[in-house]
Amino acid sequence: MDSRIRAAILPDYNESVRVSAVTIDDPGPGEVLVEMRASGVCRSDWHAVTGHLPLPVPLVLGHEGAGIVRAVGPAVTRVSPQDHVVLSWIPQCGACRWCLDGQPELCERANDAAVNGTLLSGAQHVRWNGEPVHTFSTTGTLADYALVSEESVVPIPKSLPFDQAALLGCAVLTGVGAAFHAPIRPGDTVLVIGTGGVGLNIVQGARIRGAGRILAIDPSAANRQLARALGATWAIDPTAEDPLAAVLDATRDEGVDVAFEAVGQPDLMALAFNAVRRGGTAVAVGVPLPNASVTLNAFAVVSQEKTLTGSWYGQSYPPRDIPRLVTLWNEGTLKLAPLIQRRYSLDGVNDALQDIASGRGGRSVIVWQ
Ligand SMILES: [Zn+2]
Ligand SMILES: [Zn+2]
Repeated sequence: MDSRIRAAILPDYNESVRVSAVTIDDPGPGEVLVEMRASGVCRSDWHAVTGHLPLPVPLVLGHEGAGIVRAVGPAVTRVSPQDHVVLSWIPQCGACRWCLDGQPELCERANDAAVNGTLLSGAQHVRWNGEPVHTFSTTGTLADYALVSEESVVPIPKSLPFDQAALLGCAVLTGVGAAFHAPIRPGDTVLVIGTGGVGLNIVQGARIRGAGRILAIDPSAANRQLARALGATWAIDPTAEDPLAAVLDATRDEGVDVAFEAVGQPDLMALAFNAVRRGGTAVAVGVPLPNASVTLNAFAVVSQEKTLTGSWYGQSYPPRDIPRLVTLWNEGTLKLAPLIQRRYSLDGVNDALQDIASGRGGRSVIVWQ
């Protein structure tokens, strides 16, 4: 086909994203062409723009999208043309040690493809000025079309609006999945540090999981209000009071059972660790810079039996977990609409990125009419 489409391309780190004409191939074996209808803009996209997430450039941004399958290559079995789908940015290979060992979110081949800005097969199918360009984490959803491996698409019902569906692909899967896999028991007290796109979904996941109290910390009043709407029972502004003292005060000096860090800052990971009770667990979910380090009190690690662990992509297996999340949405347990605070066309991509940079609450979503 070699069609001309538009894509949001990052030419180089710290440059403006350009919505440019590109060409895209027809799908090859095992590949699927998706007409994008909505794509969320995530903090990781912004970190690619700044170079803090050192992905190869030029790069088609976007990894949180939903759309309609328009063509499939030979041997595709998972979807058919006209299917509505969510894109997953970790297309598990199903054959590496981690896929076979029950940790498909750590798939070695998907990780290599993400780092190299290619599909799972190593292919690059988008060309800008005749030269191949990379795609964000095997997807590149900020474009009129995305050509992806069939492992990257999960069918959804046509009743689910595209803008809400898109969020399932990153923020919801990551946040809800982190809560579902954490050691939360019914009635537990949970702390969520940072209630942006991912943190709000940790709040929802903890609520669904049966947490008794959900404490939220975020400097943005809008984020705190959203957190309360989605299940937080308490929310404080860390610029107005000492967050650790406030958490200890709220928990009879015990600390919380489980704390989540959803920003990606080492000092906040340490806060999560310090805020959990003896024997408690802190879960780091926000993505820090690749060279960042965290300092913990070593004595507490041993004598208080505290755990600091990570959660990548909500420890999810999208073909299994996205249908579960759709069921929870359908029954009203999982809220998607309140997460969307702003909508833009593809030409507004730099505005949406600026929303992230300036810390505006909720998600900005690019929609195609
Ligand atoms: Zn993301
Ligand atoms: Zn694998």
